Amino acid sequence: MNKHIAVIRGDGIGPEIVNEALKVLDKVAELFGHTFRYTDVDMGGCAIDKWGDPLPERELAKCLSSDSVLLGAVGGTKWNDVPGHLRPEKGLLRLRAGMGVYSNNRPAKIWPQLSDASPLKKSIVDQGIDFIIVRELIGGIYFGTHKTEGDTATDVLQYSKKEIERIGRIGFETAQKRQKKLCSVEKSNVLDSSRLWKKVMHRLAEEYPDVALSDMLVDNCAMQIVKNPAQFDVIVTENMFGDILSDEASMITGSIGMIPSSSLGVTGCGLYEPIHGSAPDIAGQDKANPIGTILSAAMMLRFSFDMALEADVIENAVSAYLDQGFRTADIMSEGMTMVGCRQCGDLIVKNIRKG
Ligand code: NAD
Repeated sequence: MNKHIAVIRGDGIGPEIVNEALKVLDKVAELFGHTFRYTDVDMGGCAIDKWGDPLPERELAKCLSSDSVLLGAVGGTKWNDVPGHLRPEKGLLRLRAGMGVYSNNRPAKIWPQLSDASPLKKSIVDQGIDFIIVRELIGGIYFGTHKTEGDTATDVLQYSKKEIERIGRIGFETAQKRQKKLCSVEKSNVLDSSRLWKKVMHRLAEEYPDVALSDMLVDNCAMQIVKNPAQFDVIVTENMFGDILSDEASMITGSIGMIPSSSLGVTGCGLYEPIHGSAPDIAGQDKANPIGTILSAAMMLRFSFDMALEADVIENAVSAYLDQGFRTADIMSEGMTMVGCRQCGDLIVKNIRKG
């Protein structure tokens, strides 16, 4: 297969971690006979420095004409004082809106080799943590009207049946590919938008009889994620609830550097990025953990390119690397061998093999 990937290295550790993910993609291409063509896109602080704009139109256009986008991270203290509309993160919001990626998919998975890194009790971790949060990304309160009049501020939370249906379907389809358990999270004891959410989800459930749908109030879900995370397979929820719950979920897996994410819209052209930021404190020191980005590349293969086998091969290579006892500084523990960002990428590439 021939695929065109828009590559946003971004700022801070972004270029370092993306380089390692590209090494991995190149090895997969060689092994499976694919061609991955890369186009560099300037976004974030580096684009402000070069073009005076965190995402110039022509850079966005490169992303829109690609088969998918791989992003490192953007931002950093250097751009703290630029005006709000020029902040590096504005480029990211413009990219998400421009691509129409309404479905954010973030796995919360603990690698057995790293179970000590979780802040949860061993007895809870040992039950297994492996679930996905599907978050609606371009609707809800973040995109409603915001206004402040005198001493009163208002933010409007609005969802249409259509918006709920399209993210709901992603939830059901994600569950169909896993353990077939979908938990719909809302606040239907208080909010009208959540009552509509619940109603639409139950109507959709009739179309997916193979998936077991359950409902949970968001406050209870926040407790259950730390009390009994093993109960979850797929969680589907609206924008703000998903924002908060997915940060909580990433924390229980113990390491921000390990977690990938995907954001998808109607076209199949997705945005793939690790969940962490540009880590300016360790930038340029070969200390970053590139695994979140490498696993984001694996998600790209699985979800946008229909290359499940190739994605499995990358995930198995990461697992083998952890089994071999190698660790970057962020997940280092006694008895393990410390490696830098580049060596981590090289060792994972070495582990890439079919079967
Ligand atoms: P951060 O995620 O960059 O860093 C938090 C801590 O985690 C730091 O100590 C950092 O060294 C460590 N860390 C993060 N990723 C790591 C990795 N791969 N390997 C090892 N350690 C890692 O969060 P922050 O410091 O709050 O933000 C820094 C900048 O990143 C800010 O400008 C922020 O706006 C931006 N940001 C960007 C994105 C994005 O591009 N999607 C997301 C979040 C934050």
